[in-house]
Amino acid sequence: MADAGLRFRDRLSRRLLVSHALVAILAGMLVWLLMREIRPAIPTNQRPIDANSAEAANADPGTFSWTQQPAADFAIPPYARHLREARIVLDPGHGGRAHLPNYKRGPTGLREAEVNLRVAHHLREFLEAVGAEVIMTRTDDRFLHEKITSDLEERARIANEAAADLFLSIHHNAAENPSVNYSLVFYHGLPDASPASLCAARQLLIGLNDALRLERQVECALRSDYVIYPNEGFRVLRKARVPAVLTESSFHSNPAEEQRLRNALYNRREAYGLFLGLARWAQSGFPYARIEPAGNNVRDDESVIVRLYDGLSHRGAGAAPGMPKIMWDSLVVRIDGMAPVFTADRTAARLRVMLPDSLPRDARLYVDFANHYGQHVLHPALRLE
Ligand SMILES: [Zn+2]
Repeated sequence: MADAGLRFRDRLSRRLLVSHALVAILAGMLVWLLMREIRPAIPTNQRPIDANSAEAANADPGTFSWTQQPAADFAIPPYARHLREARIVLDPGHGGRAHLPNYKRGPTGLREAEVNLRVAHHLREFLEAVGAEVIMTRTDDRFLHEKITSDLEERARIANEAAADLFLSIHHNAAENPSVNYSLVFYHGLPDASPASLCAARQLLIGLNDALRLERQVECALRSDYVIYPNEGFRVLRKARVPAVLTESSFHSNPAEEQRLRNALYNRREAYGLFLGLARWAQSGFPYARIEPAGNNVRDDESVIVRLYDGLSHRGAGAAPGMPKIMWDSLVVRIDGMAPVFTADRTAARLRVMLPDSLPRDARLYVDFANHYGQHVLHPALRLE
């Protein structure tokens, strides 16, 4: 009896197993068939293809998907070596204040301050790998001052004190509309206020576009901070006395973007994009102007001699040093906002600037120009002593 009962239960459970398996297989097939119906077939022009194949060489330009990230590649281009000449202050926006429940967080709680810091650390690594001098306003999760206005001023002060060639404040954006997501790069004030800031901003924007591959790119992503705060701008940029740029790389308020921003590889892609932007910026050279030292008949009471350097010729034979690469029509000379009389020797790249009769003690001689890359003088305000 016991035996027969066992056999019976055995047969029963085997039959049950078989029927369950059949049901599962049928259900699976049904789901597969339904999915095939629901999911539109990938159009042939969206089919991912091997980027190194001969097929890629002949593929229709519409074949490739912009939003599909290519394989990660963080190669350092040879032109990045010119970053050796630069001192850059990286400012990962915000920090600390993690106890505030909804302070600068994405829909599932990702803190902007953390993302800013991760990107800055990656960027610092790239920059230091090519010999750039990097100063960070913070290296961990903290604020610089309890009071937010003082915190922002402190960041700019660090850049001013270092006489940085660039102050880069790294941020991620937020909007009430969760679908919004694009890159913005801000400079301070009117476009003429600091042409050198614009030179860096432009390259950083291109770097972000290429690295993040966001679906949407707005009509004008290079913006004055006056667009946000008319006639005031962002305090962190307003207080900077050096070229200064603020990136809002993407919107952490967008749910899909928030998830991407959680990914360390995506953070590194962003940093690499910024790095390539800075490398191109450095490749364009850092032009500057110098007042020649007194004596040797170059300076008298009425005038000063100013030498212009294109930021390229000193690189040697490969820079064709014979001819100053200066866009003479871009030359702007001012003393305390006024246009002084001056003469220019274009071959020697020298100016003789006539000084006004009464000069305030702290008067600054402003000399700006672009070299043939369009790169402007980083530190155009010269002390007159
Ligand atoms: Zn921010």
